[in-house]
Amino acid sequence: MDINDYDVKNILKLISEDVQKYVGRGSVASYIPLLAKANPKSFALTLIDKNMEIHTVGDDCTEFSIQSVSKVFTLTMALNLVDEEVWGRMDREPSGKAFDSLVHLEEHNGIPANPFVNSGAIVLADILITALGDQAVPEFLKFMRKVSGNPELKINQEVYQCEKDTGFKNYSFGHYIKSYGNIENDVDLVLDAYFQFCSLDITNIDLCRSFYFLMNQGVSILGERVTTHRHCKRINSIMFTCGTYDEVGEFAYTVGLPVKSGVSGAIGGCLPDQYAVSVWSPELNKKGNSFLGHKALEALTTMLDKSYLS
Ligand code: GLN
Repeated sequence: MDINDYDVKNILKLISEDVQKYVGRGSVASYIPLLAKANPKSFALTLIDKNMEIHTVGDDCTEFSIQSVSKVFTLTMALNLVDEEVWGRMDREPSGKAFDSLVHLEEHNGIPANPFVNSGAIVLADILITALGDQAVPEFLKFMRKVSGNPELKINQEVYQCEKDTGFKNYSFGHYIKSYGNIENDVDLVLDAYFQFCSLDITNIDLCRSFYFLMNQGVSILGERVTTHRHCKRINSIMFTCGTYDEVGEFAYTVGLPVKSGVSGAIGGCLPDQYAVSVWSPELNKKGNSFLGHKALEALTTMLDKSYLS
């Protein structure tokens, strides 16, 4: 079946109503104090099909910080800039650990498990700074404006400052990795860029638009080539195997799409050649993934009866 055979708008509406029963089952992230201010009842679900038709329900124009979903885009930038060299600096294996676990790094001499845990994304930030110098953050912003098609996207300065003031674990990742020689630049500079990447404000619709190129073999919703088809295939595979921390097995089983989550409660992903999808709901489950977001995506691929592998 093709997505156009379904009444997608109605499916999204049914899902958004059904998942309300899970409100209160998760909790809003509070280790970054500003995130705790999010309205736990917010919910948005957006799907853009390959014909660029936007189907959307809920609070889809409310801004939230992109958090770890930014790691998909910094990985794309890094692959565009240094290609396979990325894999000399990190692996691409599911970590089986929380996104902020130090354990793997000690066992693997400062080589992060994959680009989608914090340690890996901090090394990505280092790669971008080596390649782009003080233009790393402006280039990220440019990239995000290009893939979303929204020239107004901005870094939320309050969230950035808050992450800087409270990101103790992330600083320890930086210093620990540097002790193994796997960070080339000044640790504070690298973390500064990493925190800004996480602090980009975005709406659910713009997040969905930003995932369009991953569904569309590297060409964005505005018709611009963002990366190669080869990189797209690989980024999607890494999302599938590493995009939801130590819950990837559960996501592969219940959702079956390449997706990436973040602690603000956003999840973005795609079904290649069919649709891009994003969901936002701030209450997280115990693994740090959006509680309602997970349930909504599970319902979506059940109702559309198609997932990544079949
Ligand atoms: N900015 C957050 C952090 O570094 C991102 C984590 C996440 O979204 N999982 O802790």
